[in-house]
Amino acid sequence: MARYRGPSCRLCRRESEKLFLKGARCLTPKCALERREYPPGIHGRDARFRRRRESDYSRQLREKQKARRIYGVLERQFRRYLTLAQRWPGRTGTNLLVALESRMDNVVYRLGFADSRAQARQLVTHGHFDLNGRRTNIPSALVRPGDTLSVRKESRRKPYFQTAGQELDERRVPRWLSLDVAGLSGQVLQLPEREDIDVSLKEQLIVGYYSR
Ligand code: SF4
Repeated sequence: MARYRGPSCRLCRRESEKLFLKGARCLTPKCALERREYPPGIHGRDARFRRRRESDYSRQLREKQKARRIYGVLERQFRRYLTLAQRWPGRTGTNLLVALESRMDNVVYRLGFADSRAQARQLVTHGHFDLNGRRTNIPSALVRPGDTLSVRKESRRKPYFQTAGQELDERRVPRWLSLDVAGLSGQVLQLPEREDIDVSLKEQLIVGYYSR
């Protein structure tokens, strides 16, 4: 599946909000949004002084784009998650976020093996993880309660995982996951609830966008 390969900071600047796409850098003064707090492009600077009333459509569109950018998902796949969310019982908006959170690359990120979802995605596609004991290199694979995710035996010796292993911290892992630091593995205890998902998204706007 294709993905956006342009500059990540541009996406934050477009949304005028930190989307935390670059890991540790996002928390430093090097963050592009700290230095250039205006939208990208030739008219970006002027946009700061332009007063425009935002339409409902525009707010819905921006929220949808933000969600896609945070999770690194393209439009077609995002629609698939929405279809899935509509089939699940409960609120479609919450289900949509749950589906996005259940992606294997997101779980690798949440467990602390990567600094950002983009990095987690790369680790998965490079085949460093087993899902339930089987090598899986599909970042969009959805996990279920009871699933275990572990760094492959062959990858454990790599300097990256030796360093990452020292930095793992069980306290930073959300309550729907559990982390075994010594075993370089994690387990999905349950699917997340809305309050477990700490992304600043108004999911009802996203659902509204697709219900037009
Ligand atoms: Fe966004 Fe991080 Fe770039 Fe800042 S450093 S603009 S938060 S991706």
